[in-house]
Amino acid sequence: MGRRVSCNRFAQILCASLCFAIASRGSAGPLPSALAEKPTAQSSPQQAGSTPSSRAESKTPEQTRTEQYTLSHERQAKAVAYSRAGYTLYFVSYFLGGLFLFLILRLGWAAKFRDVAESASDKKWIQGLVFVPLLFLTLGVLKLPVRIYWHALSLHYEQSIQGWGSWLWDWTKGEFLSTAFGIVLVLILFAVMRRSPRRWWLYFWFPAVLILFGVIVIAPLVIDPLFDKFEPLSKEHPDLVASIEKLTKHAGVPISPDRMFLMVASRKTNAINAYVTGLGASKRVVIWDTTIQKTSNDESLFIVGHELGHYVLGHVWQGFLLGAAGLLPALYFLFLGLHWALDRWAGDWKLYGQEDWASLAALLLLLQVLLFVSSPVISGCSRTQEQAADVYGLEVIHGLVPNSAEVAAHAFQVLGELDLSDPNPPPFITFWLYSHPPLADRLVFAHSYDPWSKGESPKYVK
Ligand SMILES: [Zn+2]
Repeated sequence: MGRRVSCNRFAQILCASLCFAIASRGSAGPLPSALAEKPTAQSSPQQAGSTPSSRAESKTPEQTRTEQYTLSHERQAKAVAYSRAGYTLYFVSYFLGGLFLFLILRLGWAAKFRDVAESASDKKWIQGLVFVPLLFLTLGVLKLPVRIYWHALSLHYEQSIQGWGSWLWDWTKGEFLSTAFGIVLVLILFAVMRRSPRRWWLYFWFPAVLILFGVIVIAPLVIDPLFDKFEPLSKEHPDLVASIEKLTKHAGVPISPDRMFLMVASRKTNAINAYVTGLGASKRVVIWDTTIQKTSNDESLFIVGHELGHYVLGHVWQGFLLGAAGLLPALYFLFLGLHWALDRWAGDWKLYGQEDWASLAALLLLLQVLLFVSSPVISGCSRTQEQAADVYGLEVIHGLVPNSAEVAAHAFQVLGELDLSDPNPPPFITFWLYSHPPLADRLVFAHSYDPWSKGESPKYVK
């Protein structure tokens, strides 16, 4: 339901970026995707425990009707300030990412790294093993201040409760993984480039898609546990698992309890969230322990219902296919863009051709531009999925949970308060970077979606 953190860690990596941006969004969250993908990739979202409508205070549905997303003056000011800072940082981090790559080229650092790599060995794979970490770690360190600033802000707004030591360790692991993954992709890319200088964009697409697929499959099994602790949901919440089983049977798509996991988020964050991740054997629903702690049982059930929507409607799979399809024209754009740039600036940047390791910096710069301009499309696809998952969640709890529309509306209210959702995001910001519809709209929708009273057929859960 909230921000998604896991697969997005790799979003900045060559070629997987486009796919990931789409494929790894399994969750419904109030915050713009950018916040999850960029500055906060490893920092956990969070929130102060002292929020107004946590579980203890939630009213029974009969007593109140949550018509609108409303915040206290103090909470509203925080939500607006925190969100606006996030939007600003989104654009700033794209700009800085591009600027750093440009400077690395312009100041001859990329060429220097190449010289170091080429002097290390005549073997191309050893050169790659030297060059890629030099470039990636330099970029990682240059971008570190923005990441630190964002984490400081998250601590200030009590969204994160993760200490600096733990945060830095997460950052280190993230950099290490990105670099390892980058080495594999770049070695393949340059091998393909050397063999097929005019068609590499096509031939590289096949292994890139395969690797992407592999990473999505193994991420929940191998990568996510490096950052957070997971356990079977049935271990501590057999009652919730039993309720979810009722839900999935009601929907006619029973999901085995061993595909339901609890993530111990409370060590790092006050925010609440849930998501769907993995493909095939690793496909699963993950719910944060904070969500169970801070929402009522019925609200938790609605949040899980939303995730079941992603699960049943195959959104991870759909995202992967969209990403894989988008990757091909993206690679062609990179091919054209690289030649265009080399024709103009190869001399200035001391590059001797596309198969020069240093041209990787130019490819990353082009990728940065491409990802930025395609943000509205990627965000739009994601919002469409999230809207569908909301509909699914509303339908799947209807008839099982008393006053289900109000339960959903109140769940959004709690989610917004805890995760400091912007009550009124500028339309341009929503269009450009929101992975979910604005929370206020989702809340209103929870009450307005009512095919049952109109004698219409529900869309997904008949
Ligand atoms: Zn979702």
